[in-house]
Amino acid sequence: MTFKRVGVIGSGQLGRMMALAGTPLDVEFVFLDEATVSPSSNLGTNIKPSENNALERFLESVDVVTYESENTDTDLVRRINTIKPVFPGEASLKKSQHRLVEKNTFKDLGISTANFLRVTNKNELIQAANTLGLPIVLKTTTMGYDGKGQAVVKTEADIDQAWNELAGNELIAESFVSFSRELSIIAVRSINGETKIYPIAENDHSNGILRVSRVPAKNISTTKQKQAEEFITTMLTHLDHVGVLTLELFDCEDGLVVNEMAPRVHNSGHWSMEGSHCGQFENHIRAICNMPLGNTEAKHKAIAMINIIGLAGDRDSVLRLPNAHLHLYGKTERLNRKLGHINILANSEPEINKTLEELEAFINECG
Ligand code: AMP
Repeated sequence: MTFKRVGVIGSGQLGRMMALAGTPLDVEFVFLDEATVSPSSNLGTNIKPSENNALERFLESVDVVTYESENTDTDLVRRINTIKPVFPGEASLKKSQHRLVEKNTFKDLGISTANFLRVTNKNELIQAANTLGLPIVLKTTTMGYDGKGQAVVKTEADIDQAWNELAGNELIAESFVSFSRELSIIAVRSINGETKIYPIAENDHSNGILRVSRVPAKNISTTKQKQAEEFITTMLTHLDHVGVLTLELFDCEDGLVVNEMAPRVHNSGHWSMEGSHCGQFENHIRAICNMPLGNTEAKHKAIAMINIIGLAGDRDSVLRLPNAHLHLYGKTERLNRKLGHINILANSEPEINKTLEELEAFINECG
């Protein structure tokens, strides 16, 4: 049986792009979110959780439920799952929500990750610094994203400040990974276990926020390509995951190291909307609706995605370019807010670099 009515918990840009990709497949969308106006609000029915019988009405109007954020309430997901299927399932959500649980899962499955220790008081932080060796990265175990909720301890003198910044939260100390670049791998798995993997993306961040992704990542050795594919396939199977899953990776001299996973469509996969035969949003909808998956191969030799952050910039300068696609999310300008992205398609590395130069204002001035 194929599902036709998708309920989305949340109504941000990810929901918007799911609806934009799913509508041509005759899939309808219902968004569960308190916001009156949101990136998704024009693309389906909106139900506010505070309304009368909101959850009942939401569940009556959908066949299957998904979510936009790994911070979605697991109790809500468990409750919904007794009535309608939720994909990705509870295991995927729970393991992505808590950095210690996530890192222990990587370790148990033989997926390389930074050494880590749980930290609940300052003494444990000092011990972790001794055991792991400085520098270390101290992170909150929950609710951290885009580099928030973390501090780097380079020398013993930084311990007090890091502790003062983050005390009061459950913490994880990780050894500082020395990497040459950040990569991500995205895959999709359907209800019957069919799996497809997208090419690896190379990601540039600034202030903890993704600025540019390039696909395919340059000069990935066959060994590292295989390693990334093995990591994500192992994870998909272990979780019995349905939908899109992302692994964020550090590229290190002696192999790849997984930083974290996201049980959802991912910013570093936005390039796939025009850059691959079947984008991550469409494939996510296909997967959770029990449809055959689409081709994840890149359609162009060189692809890049630029995030539009903070300021909207000169829209027309993008529209004038023959190889750029503009995606705006209907959000107002605000510091560090993701307002949209630009996908660039090219036939060569020099061509993509030229377009990136032409759009430099979006990379450098909008943050
Ligand atoms: P996260 O919140 O875990 O995604 O981390 C945000 C950013 O901090 C990453 O994209 C890396 O640039 C950096 N980072 C996180 N963990 C580590 C680590 N263990 N070693 C080195 N850099 C890290």
